[in-house]
Amino acid sequence: MSAQPVLKIALSKGRIFKESLPLLAEAGIVPAEDPEKSRKLILDTNQDDIKLVIIRATDVPVYVDYGAADIGVAGKDVLLEYGGQGLYEPLDLKIARCKLVVAGKKNMPAPQGRLRIATKFVNVARRHYAEQGKQVEIIKLYGSMELAPLVGLADYIVDVMDTGNTLKANGLEWKEDIETNISSRLVVNKAAMKMQHSRIQNLIQQISQAVK
Ligand code: AMP
Repeated sequence: MSAQPVLKIALSKGRIFKESLPLLAEAGIVPAEDPEKSRKLILDTNQDDIKLVIIRATDVPVYVDYGAADIGVAGKDVLLEYGGQGLYEPLDLKIARCKLVVAGKKNMPAPQGRLRIATKFVNVARRHYAEQGKQVEIIKLYGSMELAPLVGLADYIVDVMDTGNTLKANGLEWKEDIETNISSRLVVNKAAMKMQHSRIQNLIQQISQAVK
């Protein structure tokens, strides 16, 4: 039996999980199962006192903020949208890199009147247009943002973009950058950082070596 409390690390399936695996391995953490093949939401690892909690990407900051997970990996896009105060963000993992951008239909004329913006990043979008002094109507979507300008739901979308291929495939194009340095970040619950300082610092240190 281990004397240490269990350390919970929140990760989302897909890109973030896959790209975090080698970094965790460098810190000696190897999951006992593949979350893509398991329905389990809490995965054991090779270490008795470390578990992985598998949740939606947008829920990672919530779990870490409330201390339901001690550590997490979340995209900067998700963190900007969440905006919580309960998290430390000690490390840029430099994975899942992309940009937050405004996109719209190719060669579209400038829209008249109040802009309609479709996005899942409503806070980011609101802040962006407030900084420009523009009045906009924000329409919250949960996926397939690229569709919105095509069917007249919105003038523009605010979304993440990597190569721009998805935009291009849908007759859309990049219009404006909002944040160019989006990547996955390690986030840590503030109380956990205090209570388990040396253990978490150690982990951060090992992962940062792997990032380098
Ligand atoms: P998803 O797999 O779509 O839930 O995205 C999880 C995270 O991966 C997002 O929060 C972003 O930080 C990042 N991400 C999403 N789309 C891209 C992309 N096209 N290129 C690189 N990273 C991305």
